[in-house]
Amino acid sequence: MVTTATTTQGNAYDVALENFDAAADRLELDSDTREMIKYPERMLTVTVPVRMDNGHIHRFEGYRVQHSSVRGPAKGGIRYHPQVTLDEIKALATWMTWKCAVVNIPFGGAKGGITCDPKHMSLGELERMTRRYTSSILPMIGPEQDIPAPDVYTNSQTMAWIMDTYSMTKGYPIPGVVTGKPISLGGSLGRNEATGRGVSYTIECACEHLGLPLKGATVAVQGFGNAGSIAAQLLHEAGAKVIAVSDSTGCVYNRNGLDIPELMRMKSLTGHVQGFPESEEIHHDELLAMECDILVPAALENAIRADNAAKVRARIVAEAANGPLTPAADRILDGKGIFVIPDILCNAGGVTVSYFEWVQDEQHLFWEAQDIYNRLERVMKTAFRDVLKLHLDQGVPMRLAANMLGIGRVAEAVKLRGIYP
Ligand code: GLU
Repeated sequence: MVTTATTTQGNAYDVALENFDAAADRLELDSDTREMIKYPERMLTVTVPVRMDNGHIHRFEGYRVQHSSVRGPAKGGIRYHPQVTLDEIKALATWMTWKCAVVNIPFGGAKGGITCDPKHMSLGELERMTRRYTSSILPMIGPEQDIPAPDVYTNSQTMAWIMDTYSMTKGYPIPGVVTGKPISLGGSLGRNEATGRGVSYTIECACEHLGLPLKGATVAVQGFGNAGSIAAQLLHEAGAKVIAVSDSTGCVYNRNGLDIPELMRMKSLTGHVQGFPESEEIHHDELLAMECDILVPAALENAIRADNAAKVRARIVAEAANGPLTPAADRILDGKGIFVIPDILCNAGGVTVSYFEWVQDEQHLFWEAQDIYNRLERVMKTAFRDVLKLHLDQGVPMRLAANMLGIGRVAEAVKLRGIYP
């Protein structure tokens, strides 16, 4: 198997660097500042030996990359996927830095991952792998240092194992070492739905800006994991018509709108969307090329590229995933007048409620759900307004505007801190 940092082609880290350069040029950042903030501060590759259920030991490779701690502790998820590479994790860590800065929360950026196929591992194997990986990256993480969270194919159970391994090693409970934990271990209300909720807030803002009523708008969602499914559910509740949904097993379509609550029930029972009643099976490529108002890529990087971007017929592309558009795709979509809500803005709801969780853990004082939704809405809508303003004032695409905002804030912080020694 060719393990590139992408679903099909290209390298996500090259994309991250290219987008950085474009924003840094536009901000006219001096070369010293660029050198200081562009590259990861710290990277660790670990071997993770795991006793599998068949009695044999399997060696996995794991990574943790801290891209930046300029504005606060490094922050970012942990991904379990067969296509995980160090370059992919470097890209995702870089995007976390700009993302936290765009929503103006006091964190830097990090990401971790293990190259593995969690769908073909037992719960016991996943637990042993998670604990051994945690032990290997332990010197790097901590509530004031670097705080992991869920990402693709990791969840609150994974975070519970990390929290336990870390706490047992230190000798006392330290819930603030991870976010996205179960509520009973110091997790936050609203964290599980936070990414999808943030996506729907930014879509609401984009619709308002474009004068497109969300009620009755048609939506296609690529990827039905945590971000995609919750975004679909909230858009459905807001009166939008979700006409197509895909996951790694298949793609379902109903031009009158899919019954999203039913589809979520089926997905949680069977693990797939394929075969959903009152739907038609379509090809993955057809979903991306579907005529709709809002396309939500919520899977992996590089879903929309030079070779398929011209076929996109949506008015809004809302990047619930990290890095779903390549720079070539960006240029094509921009040329077609498609409004892109860039990932570091669109999906920042997850890390925003992670921040709320961390604050609650540090204070040992927990907030009510409505309080969290209100704060999240305020953060997301403020960030959207700030990015939109740059987009309009400077006449730059939304992605460049978001990168300029995030990178500009990190550049300002690094200039104030100076260089040590
Ligand atoms: N994995 C999520 C992201 O890519 C959340 C990260 C976090 O909460 O730290 O934004």
